[in-house]
Amino acid sequence: AIILGLESSCDETAAAIVRSDRTILAHALAGQEDHHRAFGGVVPEIAARAHAELMTPLVEAALDEAGMTLDDIDAIAATAGPGLIGGVMVGLVTAKALAMATDKPLIAVNHLEGHALSPRLVDADLSFPYLLLLVSGGHCQLLRVNGVGEYDRLATTIDDAVGEAFDKTAKILGLGFPGGPAVERAAANGNASAVPLPRPLKGADEPHFSFAGLKSAVLRAHESGQYRVEDIAASFQQAVVDCLLDRLSYSVDRIEPLSALVVAGGVAANGAIRTMLADFADERGMRFVAPPLWLCTDNGAMIAWAGAERLAAGMTDGLDFVARPRWPLDPNAAPARGAGV
Ligand code: ATP
Ligand code: MG
Ligand code: FE
Repeated sequence: AIILGLESSCDETAAAIVRSDRTILAHALAGQEDHHRAFGGVVPEIAARAHAELMTPLVEAALDEAGMTLDDIDAIAATAGPGLIGGVMVGLVTAKALAMATDKPLIAVNHLEGHALSPRLVDADLSFPYLLLLVSGGHCQLLRVNGVGEYDRLATTIDDAVGEAFDKTAKILGLGFPGGPAVERAAANGNASAVPLPRPLKGADEPHFSFAGLKSAVLRAHESGQYRVEDIAASFQQAVVDCLLDRLSYSVDRIEPLSALVVAGGVAANGAIRTMLADFADERGMRFVAPPLWLCTDNGAMIAWAGAERLAAGMTDGLDFVARPRWPLDPNAAPARGAGV
C-alpha cells in the first residue's frame, strides 16, 4: 500500500509518501527555526499558524516528488498527538479533509509511535519485540516494543526530557536554537572532564531518568565564569551519556533478554549517545539499530510508515478522531514519582 503521512506536532511541518515495501517515494519538510529563533524556543501560536500555511504546499510538493496524484494514495496518516495541540489539529484536519474528499482511510498516528517504529522503516530485519530508548524533545523513555500499538514502558523521566535538557543547556550557554545540534557542535571542541557535573539518579534502585539537576548545575557552572562554553557543553553531554548508560544497564539487568536495542527520537541524532548505545549493545550481545539522522528528528516519513504498519494490522480511524495533546504509548504504566508521564 502507499501511504501519505503528515506531521505537525511541534515545529516541523512535513508530508511524506511511503510504500509498505519500505520505499520512501517522497519526503517534504519545512522547519520553522527562523520563526522561533528570536524567542529562544517554539511559540505554539506561531507554530500553528506556520503549519497552516505550509501543510498544503508540502502535500503538493510530496505528490510532485513522487510523480503521483491523490488517486495513487491508499491511505492518509497524520500525527494526532501528543504535541502542541494547534499544530496537531492542522495536520489532522488536513488528513481528514483529504480522506473525506478521496474516500480513503484515515490513520490517526501517535507521534511517539512514529518515532518508535521508524527504525523498522530502514531495517527490514528488525522484528518485535525490541528494547527502545526514546529520546526526544518532550520524552525520555525506555520501552519494550511488543508490536504495533503494544508498548510496555519500563522507565521515564521524573522531570525534564533529555532533548529539553539539551535545549535549556544551549540557551544557558548562548548557543542558540535548536539546542541539541548546537551543544553537540560545541562539545566537539571541549574537554568532557573539565567541569564537574552531577549524574542524577546514577546508581538509584529505580529505573527512571532525571535531568533537571544537570541543567541547574550547568547554569551554576556557566555563571561561575570559571569554564569555557565548549568545556561545559562537552561535560554536559558526557553527563547525559553516563546517566543514560547507567539507567539503561539497570533495566537491561532486570528484564528478560531482548535481541535488539533501538534508539529513536530527535536526541538519537547525537553522535556520542549513538556510540555509547552501540558499545552497550555490543557488550550485551544485542543488535543495535538507529535510524539515519534525518529520520530521528520529526519528519513525515515516520508518520507514513507508522500508518503503513497500522493499515497492515487493520487499524484505521474514524473521521471523528479528536486530536490528543497527551497520549502515552503505554496507558497502563504506573506513574513515576514526580511529574513524569
Ligand atoms: P517529542 O517527539 O517528544 O514530541 P519533539 O518532536 O519536539 O518532541 P524531536 O523532533 O523528536 O522532538 O527531537 C527534537 C529534540 O532533539 C530537540 O530537543 C533537539 O535539541 C534534540 N536534538 C536534535 N539533534 C540533536 C543532537 N545532535 N544532539 C542532541 N539533541 C538533539
Ligand atoms: Mg523541531
Ligand atoms: Fe518528535
